[in-house]
Amino acid sequence: MTQQRWFKGNLHTHTTKSDGDADPEWVANWFKEHGYDFLVLSDHNHRTILDQKIEGLLMVPGEEVSARIKMGETPIHINGIGVSRLVEPTDDDDIVSTIQANVNAIREAGGIAQINHPNFHWAFDHTHISQVRGASLLEVHNAHPAVNSYGAPGKPGAEQIWDEVLSSGRVIFGTATDDSHRYHDWLPSLANPGRGWVMVNAKDLSVPGIVDALATGEFYFSTGVSLESYTTSDTEINLAIQEDRDFIYTTIFSGAHGNVLSESVGLSATYKITGSETYIRATIHSSSGGKAWTQPVFVKG
Ligand SMILES: [Zn+2]
Repeated sequence: MTQQRWFKGNLHTHTTKSDGDADPEWVANWFKEHGYDFLVLSDHNHRTILDQKIEGLLMVPGEEVSARIKMGETPIHINGIGVSRLVEPTDDDDIVSTIQANVNAIREAGGIAQINHPNFHWAFDHTHISQVRGASLLEVHNAHPAVNSYGAPGKPGAEQIWDEVLSSGRVIFGTATDDSHRYHDWLPSLANPGRGWVMVNAKDLSVPGIVDALATGEFYFSTGVSLESYTTSDTEINLAIQEDRDFIYTTIFSGAHGNVLSESVGLSATYKITGSETYIRATIHSSSGGKAWTQPVFVKG
């Protein structure tokens, strides 16, 4: 087996080109210095391009297309990743049509679409997302402190929303992102960088290489757990975890509607596919609180 190469990146990042508090070069340097291989700057309705290349950090063009429904305040924020030009936001009549219009506009501009923070202002959920066509990614863990990622009784969290979208038969890949805005003060209540990222198994570190791998689900996402390897076949799923200090790791394989299929403890985990699952995905929980998520493997029925 060839060694897997994982490229670390953040898909949701703000700068002074919108409501972030550091300029694009400063922000890009922060990510480079903290071990990231690539970065998407996603300012609101602005395609931020650096004046100068930063050696050792691939910049993937991006924008947070920030719309709302016409007769209300409901925010609809869709990241365009790999867009070749600015995408103007479209405010439409309802939630589904507004998400769809902006996803379409992003794809027309050559990008892939990530549906951001569904629970920001409790804007929308799986009942809406399941009706949208052509979105590649969904933020399952947005680390911004104001976006209600975890939900509440009667309000599904973003991970549960993802499972319901997947259970409806719609293929969409999950992500963890920073949605970072604040780079000078550091507190849990501030949207700081470094809290959620993707690890992409791309053929090479290039814009098309990264965008293609994201579009096809060749990545996992994390808030602190790293994988050594992750492989799938028609019969089983195998993963190995990078050990950190004396942390203990629990891997949960789950299926449709988030139902737990199996649970194990240790630095590796295997799931044998029975054929009766709809899809299978893994979450790896560290005793220190970090977590990693793999993408769903759909079982051919
Ligand atoms: Zn944002």
